Amino acid sequence: MVKLGSLLGNALQSLFSKPATQQYPTVKTATPIRLRGALIYDADKCTGCNMCVRDCPADAIEILIVDRKAKKFVMRYHYDRCVFCAQCVASCKFDCLEMSNEEWELAEVEKEPFTVYYGNEENVKFILDQAASTESEDNKEG
Ligand code: SF4
Ligand code: SF4
Repeated sequence: MVKLGSLLGNALQSLFSKPATQQYPTVKTATPIRLRGALIYDADKCTGCNMCVRDCPADAIEILIVDRKAKKFVMRYHYDRCVFCAQCVASCKFDCLEMSNEEWELAEVEKEPFTVYYGNEENVKFILDQAASTESEDNKEG
C-alpha cells in the first residue's frame, strides 16, 4: 500500500523537477541521421530498371514511363503501404533513392494524400493528365 507521506513527497518532487515529456509538436528534437522517413527519388538518375519495384515487399512504389528513350520517369509512391524497410534504396544501383530523416510526420486525415508523385514537374503533369483522360474515357463507356 502506498503511504500518504510518500505520495505527497513524490507530488512535491514532481512540482519542482524538469518535465520528462517533450512539448511536441511545438518543440521538436533533432531526428537521428539514419531515421527512415519518406522516400526521396532522384528522377534524373533513374534508368527505369524497375529493381526497386521488384524488390519492394509492400507494393508501395511504381515507376511510370513518360518516355523510356529519353529516360523520363515518374515514381508513384504509396506511403501508406510503405514499411520503411529501405530495400528499394539498397536495390537501386543508380543511387536514385534515399530515405528522408526529416520528412517523417506522414499521418493524414484523408486517404488521398497517401499517394504522391515524384519526378520532373512536366513529367508528373503528363502522367496525371493521362490518368485523368483514361478516367473520363472509362466514365463515358460506363
Ligand atoms: S522502403 Fe521498403 S516498403 Fe517502402 S517503398 Fe522502399 S522497399 Fe517498399
Ligand atoms: S531501381 Fe533505381 S534506377 Fe531502377 S527504376 Fe528504381 S529508382 Fe529507377
